[in-house]
Amino acid sequence: MSPEALVQPFPAIATSSLSTASPFSPEDFNEHVMTTYARYPIALERGSGCRVWDTEGREYLDFVAGIATCTLGHAHPVMVQAVTEQIQTLHHVSNLYYVPQQGALAKWLVEHSCADRVFFCNSGAEANEGAIKLARKYAHEVLNIADPVVITAHASFHGRTLATITATGQPKYQKGFSPLVPGFHYVPYNDIAALETALDTLDSTERRVAAIMLEALQGEGGVRPGDRDYFQRVRQLCDERGILLILDEVQVGMGRSGQLWGYENLGIEPDIFTSAKGLGGGIPIGAMLCKSFCNVFQPGDHASTFGGNPFACGVALSVCQTIEQDHLLSNVRDRGEQLRSGLQAIAQRFPSAITEVRGWGLINGLELAADSPLTASAVVQSAMDQGLLLVPAGPKVVRFVPPLIVTEADVNQALSAIEQAFTVLSPE
Ligand SMILES: *Cc1c(COP(=O)(O)O)cnc(C)c1O
Repeated sequence: MSPEALVQPFPAIATSSLSTASPFSPEDFNEHVMTTYARYPIALERGSGCRVWDTEGREYLDFVAGIATCTLGHAHPVMVQAVTEQIQTLHHVSNLYYVPQQGALAKWLVEHSCADRVFFCNSGAEANEGAIKLARKYAHEVLNIADPVVITAHASFHGRTLATITATGQPKYQKGFSPLVPGFHYVPYNDIAALETALDTLDSTERRVAAIMLEALQGEGGVRPGDRDYFQRVRQLCDERGILLILDEVQVGMGRSGQLWGYENLGIEPDIFTSAKGLGGGIPIGAMLCKSFCNVFQPGDHASTFGGNPFACGVALSVCQTIEQDHLLSNVRDRGEQLRSGLQAIAQRFPSAITEVRGWGLINGLELAADSPLTASAVVQSAMDQGLLLVPAGPKVVRFVPPLIVTEADVNQALSAIEQAFTVLSPE
């Protein structure tokens, strides 16, 4: 069968052959899967565009998109074709050999960013591990620092491996996992005076600073955009001191901010940055990118068995090309403005429940009043009852991260659902 013959247009292919167990039983599931997640009580089995259906046949508008990963929504024809072609041709061989799809994706990323070189892996945490390792090697070899420190921000999120939970400036992710990885120091986000003090204090000791690692917009920590002035000054400080600026673009990158990279909203360029979530449109892939001057890895320094395989890279390249060809960035900006202004109007209707609406492009947060009993997960549950999927970003922020292909009608439908959710929760 030709790849074309396997490709179905929207709506998605029939799922009968893909269904695993029916009827679905949460009890059975919980007997076998480690309970590391608090799950909402539905199981999703099919998706098309910005919509998904659960095992009971209920339809939802998906403003979670696999937590900011499903760039092109579900069952997008371009992805269906890329996945099909690549699995039929060659899916994995290892980095013992040249992988043309990896080279093509790296070329696209270099041509569409400030970076000169790319390393591929499988997730955001793994990309950040790579960035931390690269910064440490640069510190030892170029900066001559014996005990290098990476400064990160409070309320940041960089992943769940040991080094990345240590980098993450939120004690709740670190609790129970000591000893943590040495070599990190935390400062408040968007606070330049605190950063200057930390740099001066650390540099007067043996523990000298090698890098500053920040999110251009803090995602998990509550959808907090970086201040332009702050990041301009951070860039200056790094230049003055010859230290590296690492940006974690895992959530905000790949078009979600309305620019391809979050740093474009800040008017600066990082030395190293990471990507993952949206890069493969939902296929697992991560990338760590850097400028030539800090490209200090030699053969044998770093590796990943699955990293950059033909399957993940072929699919990710099709996602990248679609963002460009379909002019998705302008859709992200327009739909983002529509969503934020609609949410502002809802916030005005429920002033004692909602304190702020903020974000860039299609990563937006709605902050609930600290003195209101409403929690983000209660709002998410209520929106789910209205057929809208949302995800919390911390206890008091509801996050909106739909696919980048979301339409004007989808946004209007989401706004009605969220308004209804607040009406049920807090009639005013
Ligand atoms: C999700 C996320 C990560 C971790 O990515 P994984 O793929 O879950 O390892 C790291 N940094 C940021 C900013 C993220 O949003």
